Amino acid sequence: MRRYLFCSLVLLTVVSFSPGSLAQEPGAEIPRPESVFGFLPGTDRQLIDYSQLIDYLVLVDQASARVAVREIGRSTLDRPMKMVFISSPENLERLDELREINRRLALDPVIPGDELTGMIDEGRVFVMATLSMHSTEVAPAQTLPLLTYQLATTDDPEVLGWLENVVVMVVATLNPDGMDMVVEHYREGLGTAYEGGSMPGLYHHYVGHDNNRDFVALTQAESQAVSRVFSTEWYPQVLLDKHQMGRTGPRYFVPRYHDPIAENIAGDLWVWSDVFGSAMAREIGAAGLTGVASNWVFDEYWPGATTTSHWKGVISLLTEAASVRVATPVFVEKNERRVRGKGLSEYKKSVNMPSPWPGGWWRLGDIVQYELASWRGALKTASMLRGEILAFRNDLCRSEVALGGTEPPFYYVIPRQQHDESERDHLIELLLEHGVEVMRLTEPAAVDGVNLSAGDWVVPLAQPYRPFVKEVMEVQRYPVRHYTPGGEVIRPYDITSWSLPLHFGVAAIELETRPEGFDELLAPFGGMDPVVPDFASDWGVALDPRDNASYRAVFSAFGSGAEVYRAPTGLTVGGEVLPPGAFVIEDPPADLMQHGATARSYALEARPSVELQAISKPRVALIETWFHDMDAGWTRYLLKKYGIPFTLLRPGDVAETDLSGNFDVLIFPDADSDILSTGKYKSNGEYQINDYRPEYRQGLGEDGSKKVDAFIEGGGLVVAWGRSTELFFDDLVFGEGDDALEFALPVSDDSESLSEQGLYAPGSLLAVDLVTDHPVTWGMPSRFGVFTRGRPVLGTSLPVLIADRRVLGVFPGEDILLSGYAEEVELLAERPAMVWVRAGRGQLVFFGFQPQFRASTPGTFKLLFNSILLPEVGEDEAGVAGVGR
Ligand SMILES: [Zn+2]
Repeated sequence: MRRYLFCSLVLLTVVSFSPGSLAQEPGAEIPRPESVFGFLPGTDRQLIDYSQLIDYLVLVDQASARVAVREIGRSTLDRPMKMVFISSPENLERLDELREINRRLALDPVIPGDELTGMIDEGRVFVMATLSMHSTEVAPAQTLPLLTYQLATTDDPEVLGWLENVVVMVVATLNPDGMDMVVEHYREGLGTAYEGGSMPGLYHHYVGHDNNRDFVALTQAESQAVSRVFSTEWYPQVLLDKHQMGRTGPRYFVPRYHDPIAENIAGDLWVWSDVFGSAMAREIGAAGLTGVASNWVFDEYWPGATTTSHWKGVISLLTEAASVRVATPVFVEKNERRVRGKGLSEYKKSVNMPSPWPGGWWRLGDIVQYELASWRGALKTASMLRGEILAFRNDLCRSEVALGGTEPPFYYVIPRQQHDESERDHLIELLLEHGVEVMRLTEPAAVDGVNLSAGDWVVPLAQPYRPFVKEVMEVQRYPVRHYTPGGEVIRPYDITSWSLPLHFGVAAIELETRPEGFDELLAPFGGMDPVVPDFASDWGVALDPRDNASYRAVFSAFGSGAEVYRAPTGLTVGGEVLPPGAFVIEDPPADLMQHGATARSYALEARPSVELQAISKPRVALIETWFHDMDAGWTRYLLKKYGIPFTLLRPGDVAETDLSGNFDVLIFPDADSDILSTGKYKSNGEYQINDYRPEYRQGLGEDGSKKVDAFIEGGGLVVAWGRSTELFFDDLVFGEGDDALEFALPVSDDSESLSEQGLYAPGSLLAVDLVTDHPVTWGMPSRFGVFTRGRPVLGTSLPVLIADRRVLGVFPGEDILLSGYAEEVELLAERPAMVWVRAGRGQLVFFGFQPQFRASTPGTFKLLFNSILLPEVGEDEAGVAGVGR
C-alpha cells in the first residue's frame, strides 16, 4: 500500500491513512473535507471554526459506521463539547461493553486470572486525545477532519487492523469557545498588517493559557468535562494532548519527558510514554520529516495539565509542534533557529534531536503532516501492543493498591472539625470528582496517637489512583536533580506546590500506620447532602466568617436588598462562638443558603446585642489589560463564582472613566506594571514593539494615573498584588496646581535586591503569621500558607504627610517554606507579606503573594473578599501620619 501520496490541493507530501476510493457502506457517501469546507484543512491562511469542525464530524458520523460523535459537556460559553469515537464498526457497536472492560482493568485489583485473560482478549486500547486547548495552536484541531476522513474511508488492511484493536476518542477541541475567538480574529486580520498577530484578551473566557493548569482544581467547565472522561467515565489507557510551541526551535516534541518527573508515578509508566514517543518520532521520520526533539524542556513533575491523567494510570503524552503565525506561513532562516531550555543547548544533531530541521518555509500544512504522522505512530503502537497495554493497566491498578497497603502513608484523614468547613466539603467533593475513593469513619478511633472522630473522612492510599491521591494530599518536596554531579539544579517548568489541604486551608492527617481492623470502621462515602436551613420565621441569620461559603451568601444577600452587618468583636449564638467579623443578615432572602449551602449558619430571633457595623455592596472595578492577562481572568472567575458584581476596565479606558463616581474598589490583579501604565512590554530596559492593534495597547497613561490618584484621594480603595503593586510605589499626587500634595506611600518592593541575593520562589507555598484584629484578616487562622512566585517582597517605612500603613501579616522567622521549592527563602524571614496603607481617606491593600492563584488557593480567598468589604475611612481617621487602624 502507498502510505504517503501527493495530494493535488496542497503541494506537499501528505501523510495519510490511505483514504479509499469507496465508502465502506453502500449508499452512504462520506464527504471529503475539502468538498465541505471549500479547502483542504492545512491550506495556508485558511481555518475552519468550531461549528464547521463539529458539523463535519457529524456528517461523517451519519455516513460512516466507523465514526460516532458524542457530547461530553458544555463549554464555559455554553458551546457543546464533542468527542468523536473512531474505530471498527464492531467495536463501536459494543462501546459500553468495552468501556466496562476499561473500568474493570483500571479499578479492579482482584479480577480472577481467567476472567482477566478473557478481558485482555476482548478489550481494545482506548486512545483519547485532546486538541488545541490553546486555541492559537490551531493545527491539531484543523487536522481532525483529515484524520477522521482518512480513518473512516481507508481500505488499507494495516490501518483497518489498527481500528480493530484500538478505539480512538478525540475531544474535538478542549476549548471550543477559544477556537471560535481565534479563528474569527485571524479572519479579520487577513490581508492587513496585523495578519497572524496576537489576539487581544484571553482565548479562554476566564483563564486563557492557564486552561492547561486547571486539572487538579477542576474549576473550569472544560477541565471538568475532560477529566470526567478519563477519570470516571471511559478510563482510556492512552491520552494524547496536542499543542504547539514557538516558531524557531525544534519542529516537534514527543516524550521522553525531561527531568524532573513525578516521583509518585510508577517507573514503568514513564517507559510506556517513551515507547509511544519513540514510535511517533519514528513515524514522523519515516514520512521524511525532520526536527523532532525529546527529553527536552517539558518536564512532567507538576500535575495540573491535561496529562494529570498520568497520575491515574494513563499513558499520557504531550506533543508540541512548531507554530506558524496562526495559519500564515513563516520563513525561518538557518541562523534564526534556536534551542534553549533543559536538554538542548545547541541547534545541532544530538541524541535529543537526531535530525535537526534545516530551516526554510514552515506552513500550517507542514504541521498537519507531523500531526498525522504522530497519529500513525500512536495508533500503530496501541494496536501492536494491545494485549500488553491492557494487561499493564491492570498490573498498575494491582500494584498501586498493593503499595497503598504496604508502604506509608496509608490514609489521609480529613477531620470533621475544620477552620473552614465549606472548603473541607469542597475538598472532599473535588476528590470524588477526580474518581478518588473516599470513606467515612463510623466510630471513634485512635491511630498514630491521634484521636479520630466518627464522621471524619478517610482517604485510603490502597486504591488505584494512589499516585494522584498522594500527589495532591501530601506536602510537596521538590525532587532536586542536577545536570551534573554537584552542578546546577534542574529547575521546574511551572509551579512547585499544589497540596490541596494546604492550598485550601483544610487540615489533613497523614497516617503512617495501618492498625488491625481499621478498614472495618470505614464506610463508603458518596457525596455531601445539601443542607438548606429555613430562616423564614426568624429575624435574621448569623454566618461564620471562617467559611468561604459565607461570603457567597453575603453577596447574594446584597443582591436581595437585605441589611448586612459584621460583628467586630464576634458573636455568640446557639452556644457557638463566632469569631470577629461574623456576618449578621437581617431579613435574609429565602434562597440565601443555596448560595452558600455549607456555610455554618445560625438563626437569630432578634438583633444581637453586640456591636454591629453595617456593610453595603461595594462597587468593584477590575483592571485587565488586553495582553492575555490570565491572573485578571482568574480573578473575574472567582468574583463571578462568589457572586461579587464587578465592572471590567481596560487600562486605556481609565482616563475617560469617572472612577470616584462609579466605584468604591479598584482591583489590580498581577500584571506587568509597564503594560498597565504604557501598554508596552519592557525587556532589558527597552520598550518592545508588539503585534496588537493600537487600540489594544493603551496603558493608563498620565491621565489614567491621575484618575487613580484622584480616586484614592476621594476615599477609594485599591487592592493590588503581584507586579501591579509597582504602580503605587512611585509618588502619588493629590490635588492640582499650587495646592498639589505630592507624597510617597510608606511601602516598597524589595524583590529585586533579594533575588540578586539568591531568593527564588517559582510558585511555592510559604507560611504567614497574621495580625488577627484587622477587618482584612477576619475569619482567617493566625498562621496559614500563601502562594507566591517571589514578587513583590513588601517592605514598609515610617509614613510621612497624610499616609499611614499597617503590616497585616509577616513571614515567620523560620520554617517559611510550607510546600514546594524555593532557594534562599530565609531572606524573607519576618518581612511583611501583606500591608494595609492609608493615604488621606483612601486605602490600599497590597498582597506580597497571590491570594487567588489560579483559583486554587481557597485558603487565602477571604483576604481578598475582606479587602473588598473594607469599610470606608471616616473624616476623623483621615488625618496625619501615624493614626492607623
Ligand atoms: Zn499549548
